[in-house]
Amino acid sequence: MIETLIFPCLQDNFGLLIHNSKENKTLSIDAPEAAAIEKALIQKGWQLDEILITHHHFDHVAGAAALKEKMGCKITAPKKTKLAIADVELEGDEEIIACGIKFQAIPTPGHTLDQIAYYAPEEKILAAADALFSLGCGRMFEGTAAEFWDSLNRLSQLPDDIMLYCGHEYTQANARFALHVDPNNIALQRRSQEVEQLRKLNKHTLPISLGLEKQTNPFLRVSDPAIRAKLNLPVASNEEVFAALRALKDKF
Ligand SMILES: [Zn+2]
Repeated sequence: MIETLIFPCLQDNFGLLIHNSKENKTLSIDAPEAAAIEKALIQKGWQLDEILITHHHFDHVAGAAALKEKMGCKITAPKKTKLAIADVELEGDEEIIACGIKFQAIPTPGHTLDQIAYYAPEEKILAAADALFSLGCGRMFEGTAAEFWDSLNRLSQLPDDIMLYCGHEYTQANARFALHVDPNNIALQRRSQEVEQLRKLNKHTLPISLGLEKQTNPFLRVSDPAIRAKLNLPVASNEEVFAALRALKDKF
């Protein structure tokens, strides 16, 4: 039996704990803030056994050293992250077992070059960190549009019924941009209204099914004729439409 817990860390990061009750083991996706993660563990009565790091940004690794020192947890990180305290380094495309749970390490460069998404097919969990957000995607700090589009395209091939977990609560702002470029999308209008309600109640907008993201997230819908018409790019490649969307979002 797998239980997940998400909770706020730092300003707008998500902490994500995944607990395997069969083995009584718990892992954390990233380590944004040691104190918040420790508090969540205490509330659930869980101990931290492993941390899976997604990329090198400070708000994803800041708590790793303190948690390792205090709890002796094993740390797995992308090799390109160059995290000195990592016990295991991943190239990407490996299958790993963490806390008894099978994960595929999917390289998702674009936001950063080192980023890896962790996908647990049997548990239907995708931890995409800052590659894919609900109704958006990460800023393109290090990769090219071609790399980023390949990463998102790869994630969008995963099944509709998996649940997407992200590194930040950015959905409300993303929804405004998504509606700007895809105003007549009924599924998006509905999701946007739900997001408004959830945020009003101070509730999380995640996790969300990847199937709904495929219907509503403009960065996964670059082949959609309405979005292409809005961008004036009816016959461009998917990669070009992605690049135009990402640039437009940066200015939005
Ligand atoms: Zn980041």
